[in-house]
Amino acid sequence: TEQQQNLHIFFFPLMAHGHMLPMFDIARLFATHGAKSTFITTPPNAPLFSTKIDRDRSLGLDIQIQTIDFPHSQVGLPESFSSSKSITSPEMAEKFVKAFALFTNDLERLLQLHRPHCLVADMFFPWATDLASRFGIPRLVFHGTSLFYLCVDHSIRAHQPHRHVSSDAEPFVVPDVPDRIELTRGVLGDDPEEFWEEIRESEAKSLGILANTFYELEPNYVDHYKNKLGKKAWEIGPVSLCNRSVNDKLQRGENQHHHQYHRCLSWLDSQKPNSVLYISFGSESHFSRAQLGEIAMGLEASRVPFIWVVRTTSSSEVDTNADDFLPNGFRERNEGKGLVIIDWAPQVLILDHEAVGGFLTHCGWNSVMESVCAGVPMITWPLYAEQFYNEKFVNEVLRIGVRVGNEDWCSWTDEINTSVKRDKVERAVVGLMREEEEKKKWRG
Ligand code: UDP
Repeated sequence: TEQQQNLHIFFFPLMAHGHMLPMFDIARLFATHGAKSTFITTPPNAPLFSTKIDRDRSLGLDIQIQTIDFPHSQVGLPESFSSSKSITSPEMAEKFVKAFALFTNDLERLLQLHRPHCLVADMFFPWATDLASRFGIPRLVFHGTSLFYLCVDHSIRAHQPHRHVSSDAEPFVVPDVPDRIELTRGVLGDDPEEFWEEIRESEAKSLGILANTFYELEPNYVDHYKNKLGKKAWEIGPVSLCNRSVNDKLQRGENQHHHQYHRCLSWLDSQKPNSVLYISFGSESHFSRAQLGEIAMGLEASRVPFIWVVRTTSSSEVDTNADDFLPNGFRERNEGKGLVIIDWAPQVLILDHEAVGGFLTHCGWNSVMESVCAGVPMITWPLYAEQFYNEKFVNEVLRIGVRVGNEDWCSWTDEINTSVKRDKVERAVVGLMREEEEKKKWRG
C-alpha cells in the first residue's frame, strides 16, 4: 500500500554473526515487502553486507547501510576487533559487553537524522526501547531464538524449579509448558540476574519481538507465548529463506570465501545423496586441540564422509594449516573422504546440497533453523547459551536428531573441551547416518 511504501525501519543487531546474519535477512524481508530498511552496523562489518545491498538496490529494493563506530579505545579492545567471532578470552568478552551501552549516542544521532518509523534492535541493547520512545516510535526486540526457549525460560524464572534440586546434574521438570521437558541446573548459565532483568524490562516496554521461527514448527509454543503468557511476538522465519540465489546464500557472512564454495560444492557433487555429514559449531566457538583430536578420531572410525568446519584460537590467521592441530596423518588418511574447512564455510549452500544427510551442530538457533529448512536431521552437541534448550527442542519436541551426549556447560569465550570422546562421536555419527541410509532403502 501507499503507506507501506513510506514505512522506514531501522535494524540494529549485535556485532555477532548469529545476530547480524538473521537480522540482515529480516531487513531484506521488509524491503521486499515495500518498506525502506536501514541496516546499522560497525564499519568493519559493513563489507559483509555491501555486495548484497548493491545487488538488492539495483533490483529496486529500498535498503541501505549506515555505520556506527565501535568504541574500541573506550572499552580497551584493539582497533582490529570487529565482532564476537574473534573473542578468545573472558576479558575480551567483558570489554565487548561494556561496549553495548556506548552505541546510544550514535544511534540517537542516526534516529534524529533519518526519523524512521520503527527501531528493531537486538535484545542486548535494552536501552533501545527508551531511546525509541524519545522519538515517539516503537521498538521491536530481536532475540534470535525460538519461542520454545522463551517459554521455557519464562517458566524457570517464574517457578524457580531449579532451586529444588540438590545438584547441578539432577534433572528437574520445567513446569507449565506444553511438553514434559527436563533440564539440569548446570545448563542454565551463570549470567548475572540484573543483566537479564534489564533485558526483560525493556522487552516488556517494547512493542514485542520478531522471532526467526514459524508457526508450524512450534505451534504449541507460539500459542503459549502469545495467549498464555500474553506477550507479543511475530514469527517471521525461517529468515534464511530470503536468500534464494546462490550468490545470496554464498554471501551470508563472509565475502572472500568463493574458493571454499567451489571446493565444497564440487566435492559434494561427487558424493552419494544423503551420505555426507556436515560438522560446524557456529561462528564463535573455538576448540582445544585435544577436543579436535577426539572429533577427528571418532569421525575417522565412523567411515562417514564429512565436511568439517574447524575453528581454533588461531583459525583467524590466514595461513592456518589444519594439519597443525589435527592428529598426525589425519589429513592424508582421509584424503577424498572428507573436507576440512578452516574458520568459515557456506553453511546454507552445504546444507541444501542433496549429498548432505546429517548435521553435527552446536544447536545455535540459526543452524537449527537452516537444518530444518534443508530437511537435514541433526546430531546435537550443545555448548553454551540457550543451546541445551535447543537440543531438547530438536530431539524431544521435533524428534529430528540424536544427542552426542554432552552434559558439560562450556564458556563461549574459552577453548572448548568437553568430556565427549571419540567413541561417543563415532556412535552418534554411525547411528544417525546409518539410520538415514536404512530409511532411504525403505523409501526405495
Ligand atoms: N555460519 C556459516 N558458516 C560457518 C559458520 C556459521 O555460514 O562456517 C552461519 C550459519 O549459517 C548461521 C550463523 O552463521 O546462520 C551462526 O549462527 P548460529 O545461531 O547457528 O550459531 P552462533 O554462531 O550464533 O553460535
